[in-house]
Amino acid sequence: MEFSQYHVDALLNITNRPSLVFTEGHGMWLTDHKGKRYLDYLQGWAVNCLGHSPQCIQDALTEQARKLINPSPAFYNEPSIALASSLVKHSCFDRVFFANSGAEANESAIKLARKWGKKHKNAAGADRYEIITFNHSFHGRTLATMSASGKAGWDTIFAPQVPGFPKAELNDLASVEKLITDKTIAVMLEPVQGESGVIPASREFMQALRALTKQHGLLLIVDEVQAGMGRTGELFAYQLSDVTPDIMTLGKGIGGGVPLAAMLCREEVAVFEAGDQGGTYNGNPLMTAVGGAVLDELLKPGFLQSVKDKGAYLGAELVKLSEKHGLEGDRGEGLLRALKLGKNIGAQIVETARDINPEGLLLNSPRPDLLRFMPALNVTTAEIDQMISMLSDVLKKLGH
Ligand SMILES: *Cc1c(COP(=O)(O)O)cnc(C)c1O
Repeated sequence: MEFSQYHVDALLNITNRPSLVFTEGHGMWLTDHKGKRYLDYLQGWAVNCLGHSPQCIQDALTEQARKLINPSPAFYNEPSIALASSLVKHSCFDRVFFANSGAEANESAIKLARKWGKKHKNAAGADRYEIITFNHSFHGRTLATMSASGKAGWDTIFAPQVPGFPKAELNDLASVEKLITDKTIAVMLEPVQGESGVIPASREFMQALRALTKQHGLLLIVDEVQAGMGRTGELFAYQLSDVTPDIMTLGKGIGGGVPLAAMLCREEVAVFEAGDQGGTYNGNPLMTAVGGAVLDELLKPGFLQSVKDKGAYLGAELVKLSEKHGLEGDRGEGLLRALKLGKNIGAQIVETARDINPEGLLLNSPRPDLLRFMPALNVTTAEIDQMISMLSDVLKKLGH
């Protein structure tokens, strides 16, 4: 089918999309409407942690669809209990609330922290509600999560903002300390900033932040929507720095491609009362059955070690490529990595890589001078080699 035959204008224009319609995906590969194949290093933006349409997700969806799709969140269902139990068992948290997107999970974390701030008022007897977040952070696209985000320009697009999110600088403890007032209730951060270009919070910073928040009676909230679920080689990114947060949010990888997210908290922080939080689809058995199947795969012996190994391999190959083409090296954790280009050629590389024939390569450039790599966690070294060789050809073609 020709692209012009699709009535794409029926869709509201919310982003600039290339003239391609994807019709199939298997593992690391996508196929478009003309049958051209693409090696996919986006994977739905770090979502498809087991690649496109893995067998375990197909099985979980079909088996669960035959049994029960949606009894309503007003009743218990087996897959959500099983997934919550497994998440609790493998983390420092005690309770799980399921949601449908990362933004919604973060909304829940913000609401829970604010509720906690009503219970734990300041010395003057007033509610505490301010949550310190970070410049360049990304927490979602609802009004509150946009306000919590530190993306340039986001404070004005849909003004007025939701108040109560002062911004500090990542890896700068003094910048956090300066913002603490008698209204502060929490500090919220991505252990590895994803959208801003794969910037890890240092282990020292995370530990100092935990000590500082404890000292001031503040909650520590980690947004692991992108960095959690094995992406860094640890099941959860907070484990990289040996800290115990109070609240964590998950999204993206937890559903392996289907809409599923979660907020986890420790028992002391579980202050929601009946009616405070909910949602029609939250914790539905169809999606939580998929989440259970995905988590089982990540927990198989050797899986997380293989993410670490492949992350190290990808990092080393990016460094070699960087040396060959005069670029500025790699950074990241596990299989969330970035290649520093040192010049603003990101968009050009993304387009050229996509359009090469016979097979294209899908890459992401979150900043003009950076490429981000978010392969499936079960990517093979051969698929890494192939990407590096394709990218090298693209760089040569562009004269770099
Ligand atoms: C993607 C992302 C979100 C938002 O998740 P959605 O499912 O798109 O709402 C929030 N936080 C981080 C760190 C993310 O990467």
